[in-house]
Amino acid sequence: MHDDSNVSPESRLAQACHYIDEVTGGISPPIQLSTTYARAPDYSYIGNYSYGRADNPSWEVLEKVCADLDGGADAKCFASGMAAVCAFFETVNTGEHVVAPRIMYHGSQDWLRRISARRAIGLSLFDACDLEDLARQVRPGETSVVWIETPVNPTWDVIDITRAAKIAHDAGAILAVDATVSSPVTTQALAHGADIVFHSATKYLNGHSDVVAGMLVTAREDDRWEEIKLVRTLTGGILGPFEAWLLLRGMRTLFLRFEQASRSALQLAQHFENHPRLRRVLYPGLESHPGHDVACRQMTRGFGGMLSLLVDGDAEVAKRIAGNTRLFVRATSLGGVESLIEHRASVEGPHSAVPENLLRLSVGIENCQDLIEDLEQSLQNPE
Ligand SMILES: *Cc1c(COP(=O)(O)O)cnc(C)c1O
Repeated sequence: MHDDSNVSPESRLAQACHYIDEVTGGISPPIQLSTTYARAPDYSYIGNYSYGRADNPSWEVLEKVCADLDGGADAKCFASGMAAVCAFFETVNTGEHVVAPRIMYHGSQDWLRRISARRAIGLSLFDACDLEDLARQVRPGETSVVWIETPVNPTWDVIDITRAAKIAHDAGAILAVDATVSSPVTTQALAHGADIVFHSATKYLNGHSDVVAGMLVTAREDDRWEEIKLVRTLTGGILGPFEAWLLLRGMRTLFLRFEQASRSALQLAQHFENHPRLRRVLYPGLESHPGHDVACRQMTRGFGGMLSLLVDGDAEVAKRIAGNTRLFVRATSLGGVESLIEHRASVEGPHSAVPENLLRLSVGIENCQDLIEDLEQSLQNPE
């Protein structure tokens, strides 16, 4: 690999940081399936590899590309987003204190609640739209981690990473950012002051709804990072070599996919903003959205493909509208090439804080006019 730091990020990503296999000249990396590695007669390793749970060359190009994409010192891939979240929170010790948003990815919050109860870790939740509340919740000298997510699912409020980082650092804590929804295309969380970035690579990074994977990217290779790597090796939350290869293949088109999804989502949001069957459209690209100003500063290449519709009616009306779509697929998840619609409260279950009339859309890369017409016809026939 040669120095390509002077070319733009989408060029580097398209070529996987100018990857060329040193043995064959192949421009797509091989998949190493071996679980173990032979030693030389003097018992030294032939390559730098020992055993499949500890290291695999199929991770290396992927991790280098992810570190590059987020401007980090190193990146590590995991078997799923949640495997990465769990590995990260393994580094928090009994007696320490964590602050996280009240509304955040429910799996991460469930895990946090569980470990905080079992390991006597303090946990405070703040109102994701209110950084003054974050400042009140941190405990200087005791809080070790502030975890945020931006934009916030499913209201898509945008948290100011620079301000959150200052609050965390002033209290002696680190800032970890779940950047799954913004993606490194539009938000460079580390450059805004975050210490660690997390991605559910299942979503935009892979983009084709066919790989479950997670990624952590660090600003520095410090003691916590060493611990995270050790946790991955010892708990075995590793990505399969074929999944690593698929993920790298999907990622090469990330900029194209994300920018198309952002363009279409903005068009949909503007088209449906004053629709008579909707009470509101929530999208950070709309001037009416409370997070719009921060989004303009922090989301530099599009506002993303996620938006929510608050329908004029109850859960039944919302579900009927979702039931009428012909192009939007009724399914959970986000960030894939195919557009999805979901009744979020049903997905999260009876304890969900999500309004019952909210429909969440993940906009894909289909023709935008087709998407608009599909939603128009679903809204016309709520019976
Ligand atoms: C999907 C998701 C996760 C969990 O990732 P998995 O790959 O499903 O384990 C975490 N955070 C956010 C914001 C997500 O959308």
